[in-house]
Amino acid sequence: DVPRMLTNETIEVLAPNSFPPCMLNLYLAMRTKHHLKYTGRVHFQLFLKGCQMNLEECLAFFRSEFSQSVGDNKFDREYAYGIRYNYGLEGKRQNWQPKNCNAIIRSLPGGDETHGCPFTFMDKKTLDGFLREGCCLTEKDGSNDIEDIMGHVFNDDNRRDCHLACSAYFRAKHDNTDPFAITPIESPNQYYSESLKYNIR
Ligand code: SF4
Repeated sequence: DVPRMLTNETIEVLAPNSFPPCMLNLYLAMRTKHHLKYTGRVHFQLFLKGCQMNLEECLAFFRSEFSQSVGDNKFDREYAYGIRYNYGLEGKRQNWQPKNCNAIIRSLPGGDETHGCPFTFMDKKTLDGFLREGCCLTEKDGSNDIEDIMGHVFNDDNRRDCHLACSAYFRAKHDNTDPFAITPIESPNQYYSESLKYNIR
């Protein structure tokens, strides 16, 4: 059974099953680099907040990863404030909203940043590898899921249809999806809440 409540423990199951590619990419970077650059942290923390992960769980998750790269003390001094800020408990104390797809699509990563929509910036080989290894999609049983997703990104007129690619990705990850109910995907949080309504493949 897939858990419903997003916590420092359940994120390990919920991320590969129910996070859209942009947020799964940030999650996987957290797990491998134990660190995220500024924009990635903002996008990811606001997404987690929008998924009802509470502040304590979010702090615990980031601390467990960042302590492996910068150490507990530096995390508490330099990074915990940013999480509390994004949760509206520091600085301007505003109810900051999670970014929608259009904002994430416009936000291209540079250098060793990890934020952004993978359908906008990954080349063909990188996206293919990410879908197979990071997202665990396969072509077993004659499925053409990967081809279907790639077709929206690398189409004849070279227009990357990120929203349609993301909807195709959603259908590939879930059983018996209603293709009209989730087309197009407009925000990572919409993707997540829709995912909880379906069985994972
Ligand atoms: Fe994320 Fe939206 Fe891109 Fe999907 S279309 S990967 S939800 S930014």
